[in-house]
Amino acid sequence: MTGKVIDGRVIGKAIREEVKQSVGKLVHKGCQPGLAVILVGDNPASQTYVKNKEKSSIEVGMKSVLIELPETVSTDELLGKVEELNQDETIHGILVQLPLPKHIDEDLIIGSITPAKDVDGFHPVNVGKMMIGQETFLPCTPHGIMALLERSGVDLEGKHAVVIGRSNIVGKPMGQLLLQKNATVTYCHSRTKDLPSYTKQADILVVAIGIPKFITAEHVKKDAVVIDVGMNRDENGKLCGDVDYEKVKNVASAITPVPGGVGPMTITMLLKNTLLSAEKACKSQS
Ligand code: NAP
Repeated sequence: MTGKVIDGRVIGKAIREEVKQSVGKLVHKGCQPGLAVILVGDNPASQTYVKNKEKSSIEVGMKSVLIELPETVSTDELLGKVEELNQDETIHGILVQLPLPKHIDEDLIIGSITPAKDVDGFHPVNVGKMMIGQETFLPCTPHGIMALLERSGVDLEGKHAVVIGRSNIVGKPMGQLLLQKNATVTYCHSRTKDLPSYTKQADILVVAIGIPKFITAEHVKKDAVVIDVGMNRDENGKLCGDVDYEKVKNVASAITPVPGGVGPMTITMLLKNTLLSAEKACKSQS
């Protein structure tokens, strides 16, 4: 039996359509949601991500502002730019594309974004709120994965979810969100001994490692749901995930492909967070 494909393109498109409808209603009330993205330097991958964010926000009817700064920008200049956007009433979401050049303290910059416009959900205040289950901006990639699971009808209650990876942007928040939906969560990482002994127990396996095709059929329990966050290039330069898709799809009951699984959901949830921010700001103005 071949696993069911969880299609992030289809689910992401449906959510963006819903966001577009809601944006239309806000525009009608004279309150267009605005997303500002700051890009420092000329890293090609970052440029591609930023262009996609700009294009997607315009497609749903948002105002999009791209601020490009040179690699040599000082911390003070960058802080000044963030503060300008914090004060700008037409901007509801601020995103600083990471990574930043080495001479700039990323934590300081992220901490300078007002939590009410931190649509990436990286500000310590928003991370804290997420941890204690308060309403906040959830980090876009794990938030997108939760939407994929929900819209695919995956029941999480009492299930064993194993998350491989503990980064601040994917692994750690992923486990928290699964826990909030009553899954029993195990985190694995590079120091985990005998990884397959954990992954083989997973009803839901989320893989966010960054090593091409690392997870094979031998790691996966029959009928598990497998979510592949990885975005890597294989030996032929082709985009691939952290999971050996061709082999694992025969064991899993459902699986996300790469590309077309988790990837499209990240920008989708960024738009959703920006909409949420604008809805709040507009309500408090009216
Ligand atoms: P990261 O910060 O490099 O974290 C990787 C994690 O994997 C770390 O926690 C690391 O453990 C763990 N790890 C590394 N080697 C391992 C091994 N052999 N066995 C078990 N665990 C291992 O990466 P990230 O930012 O979370 O991203 C992970 C992947 O997702 C990357 O391919 C990235 O490109 C992709 N990604 C995709 C999206 C999307 O929108 N689709 C968004 C974000 C990231 P330690 O903590 O012990 O070092």
